[in-house]
Amino acid sequence: MAPTQLTKTAQQARQHLMVPAQDMKTLGQRALPALSHGEGIHVFTENGHRLIDGPAGMWCTQVGYGCSEIAEAIADQATTLSYNSPWYTTNTQAAALAEQIATMTPGDLNRIFFTTGGSTAVDTALRFVEYFNNALGRPSKKGIVVRRDGYHGSTALTFSCSGRSQTAPHFDPPAQRIHYLSSPNIRLSGGQTEAQFLETLVEEFETLIEANGPETIGAFLAEPILASGGVIIPPKGYHARFKEICEKHEILYISDEVVTAFGRCGEWFASEKVFGVVPDIITFAKGVTSGYVPLGGVAISDKLLARVSGENAGGAYFGNGYTYSGHPVSCAAGLANIKVFEKLDLLNHVRKISGYFNQALQGLRDLPGVVDVRVSGLVGCVECMTVDQRIIAKAEDRAMATEIDTLCFEMGLIVRPLANLCVISPPLTITEDQIDEICDILRTAIIRVTAEHL
Ligand code: PLP
Repeated sequence: MAPTQLTKTAQQARQHLMVPAQDMKTLGQRALPALSHGEGIHVFTENGHRLIDGPAGMWCTQVGYGCSEIAEAIADQATTLSYNSPWYTTNTQAAALAEQIATMTPGDLNRIFFTTGGSTAVDTALRFVEYFNNALGRPSKKGIVVRRDGYHGSTALTFSCSGRSQTAPHFDPPAQRIHYLSSPNIRLSGGQTEAQFLETLVEEFETLIEANGPETIGAFLAEPILASGGVIIPPKGYHARFKEICEKHEILYISDEVVTAFGRCGEWFASEKVFGVVPDIITFAKGVTSGYVPLGGVAISDKLLARVSGENAGGAYFGNGYTYSGHPVSCAAGLANIKVFEKLDLLNHVRKISGYFNQALQGLRDLPGVVDVRVSGLVGCVECMTVDQRIIAKAEDRAMATEIDTLCFEMGLIVRPLANLCVISPPLTITEDQIDEICDILRTAIIRVTAEHL
């Protein structure tokens, strides 16, 4: 499109907007497609192009677009009480949502601290680990163990905990106290069975703890499924084994459920019911409001808190908080969102339809260029390579996947472009027919693009 034909939004965006993961080469020259509205699982561009929201925005638009119950709750709350300082007051919505979420979390994770999103939730959890160990008089127990291919956010600390932080060009190396384990991706296991691979990963964790000394390791931070790192599903039993090791060495297990909570895996929280682990701390965001307004949070174990509160507090404050912690409008949206889940029986719907979703995506496995299909709940990806059997993606694999995503977009489907993967994690309200439509578009795009590359 010639510059003179640009819409007003495109002109404004080109001139003044900087977006997440901005491609610096095209800053000022290119703008992303502008959306005008959404309806159910669909969004529409300014020029009327209708698209299925394949990745549910950023794994967050659980109930889909245009939900009047959530919109009305937001409007009502903004009219009634648009803000309160969480430092010296609270509000009905934050208290009610905390109570509600405490009934959904596993174990005794009954204390909820609200944040502004996922990064600030993980940051808060990590700051709590720091506070906890200082309060218990073990200041050296601050190491954080994470996995390559993990993703935990975009603050300085949470990005450091993300697997790719070590190789991010033009950023400083991450903090020394962060330790990286291998990605639990069986494709990288050199042909081991799932059980063998689990033992390899367990041994790596134990060796790391021994090498550094358990007195220096404060937390293990892990997503149940490594979502943004490539929809990596750890081997069966991984979470429970890692928790056992954490317990043995008094290392706090933080389950980062920013993607997996609120229905994506068919449960409010996936840690216990899907992955068999009761963590010490859970972080959540995204689906808690179905993306209608920003909100995140941390659920912390009562037992843990008892060790550093009340008579054990030593007169200290947990000096961590945000202007918008427990924002009444966000919490009202969260409460309304949960009501919509219940009205639509959405957890049951996900449990039922995720089998169909898996089967449909697995049906793409035999296409040329497809080397793997991974699915858990309503999180899925199709991994594409230009060379059969290749394990580590190269530039040409990423380019081919980007072309597939672009063609899908033209055909009416947003696919999250993630390296050489086509990621699909749709709104939870998706139907079987809509899954078929997604897979038909993906199939056509993969066949057409790979015909030019392979
Ligand atoms: N943790 C996980 C597992 C995520 O996937 C993300 C974002 O995708 C974050 C944390 C950061 O969340 P936010 O972008 O809301 O700060």
